[in-house]
Amino acid sequence: MLLQVKNLSHTYDPDIKSNNYTLKDINFEVQKGEFIGLIGHTGSGKSTLVQTLNALIHPTKGEIIIDGQDITKIKNLKEIRKKVGLVFQYPEHQLFEENIAADVSFGPKNLGLNEDEVDRRVKQALEWVNLDYEEFKDRSPFRLSGGQQRRVAIAGVLAMEPEILILDEPTAGLDPKARVELINEIVNLKDKFGLTIILISHRMEEIAQLADRILVLESGKLVLEGSPSYV
Ligand code: ATP
Ligand code: MG
Repeated sequence: MLLQVKNLSHTYDPDIKSNNYTLKDINFEVQKGEFIGLIGHTGSGKSTLVQTLNALIHPTKGEIIIDGQDITKIKNLKEIRKKVGLVFQYPEHQLFEENIAADVSFGPKNLGLNEDEVDRRVKQALEWVNLDYEEFKDRSPFRLSGGQQRRVAIAGVLAMEPEILILDEPTAGLDPKARVELINEIVNLKDKFGLTIILISHRMEEIAQLADRILVLESGKLVLEGSPSYV
């Protein structure tokens, strides 16, 4: 088993006794190479859940076991980011350097990889998301279309070569054609590398044909889990 989430609960309320839980006693498992669709209404806790998986949020209770290790106990965040890559719901929150090459190379540089390896990963990652390296490397990430920004954010995460790729609403705000293109690229990544993917979407019809399994969150609880046809 690649990922096991056990009795995971989270409250943003500093007063734990308030019982104001955003995630309530969540349990699920993910196998290597699985494509999981995570759906649920606005405010149901989807973004909070995936941020705990990436250690951006420390859960109030529970365990998140990846490759046999409880990541809630790991202090060195680089160890976690190498395993779990998260593309934020608002990708502009993930872009901060003056040019795209610098942005995509930030993660691998931080891992302490040598320059050649960093360059290789940046070129590779941009190729994977269909952005031409020569054309885009010197451009500002802030002067791109929404779809291009998302691609840069995805490239930055892929350059870390994670085992699990999590995408929080990657197609939000894209037109139907761009949505299909991006989804196809994500499916290609899974097929090529056997990547494990967790994809959040509001659109059941969008992930129904793609996902091996769907998880449904409702008010912080995992209320349904099964194959897309069952859900
Ligand atoms: P959406 O589909 O709109 O993105 P979501 O399912 O991702 O929604 P979350 O962002 O996880 O939902 O939010 C779950 C609940 O936690 C909501 O009630 C929200 O108001 C609350 N919440 C989210 N972030 C914070 C925060 N930083 N501080 C306090 N409460 C928060
Ligand atoms: Mg969200």
